[in-house]
Amino acid sequence: MPVHPDVAALLDLQTDDAEVYVVERQLGELAPRIQALEAEREREEQALARAREAAEREEQRHRELKARIAEHREVQERNQAHLDSIANMKQATAAMTQMEHSRRMIAEAERDVDIMGRRIAEQRRAIEEREQALQELIDRNAEARAALEAQRTALDGKVRDAVAGRDAKAKAVPRSLLSRYDRIRARKQEKTVVALRGPSCSNCDTMLPLQRRSAMVGSGTVEVCEGCGVLLYAAE
Ligand SMILES: [Zn+2]
Repeated sequence: MPVHPDVAALLDLQTDDAEVYVVERQLGELAPRIQALEAEREREEQALARAREAAEREEQRHRELKARIAEHREVQERNQAHLDSIANMKQATAAMTQMEHSRRMIAEAERDVDIMGRRIAEQRRAIEEREQALQELIDRNAEARAALEAQRTALDGKVRDAVAGRDAKAKAVPRSLLSRYDRIRARKQEKTVVALRGPSCSNCDTMLPLQRRSAMVGSGTVEVCEGCGVLLYAAE
């Protein structure tokens, strides 16, 4: 015995709804991919900003150290001038010790300045590389994004067509049956209308009382499964 025409119309509708879900899921998967591209770019931008800040701090220290060296040199020059005017041997020895000390300090600071300068140059090179990598990433992401947007537009169109198709088929289903179907469909997207398998629901194997089963076979009515809540119809 073929299924009741109302049930056949409902099954036809369910097939279309399944297609709508497939396309909607594909559409739903696009958003996180677009977000992932954005997140990747943001991470790179933040890393670049941190590298720039670190380089700027280093440059600041570099300038400060150079300024201190310049000050030491001035003091050194004044001391040198002063030394020439000292006649007292003991005072002269003390002044020379002092000058030797500050000369060593200046030499040490200059070594630090050189090291810092090399480090800054390295940092700047690394920043330039990062800037270039970021630009490449931005270009690459723009392409990927455009491709994803094109997919989205295509899927939007497919969803619209699929929804229009299912709406047309829904007209063939009696209103009360359709509203039961839609209510159940809102809860469980995958299976809404399923066939009886022997005396049981083919979705959850819960057995349906014989009386209700006979009524279904005779009239083509559908029943809600007490086990899993789907709409049951008699297929045989
Ligand atoms: Zn069931």
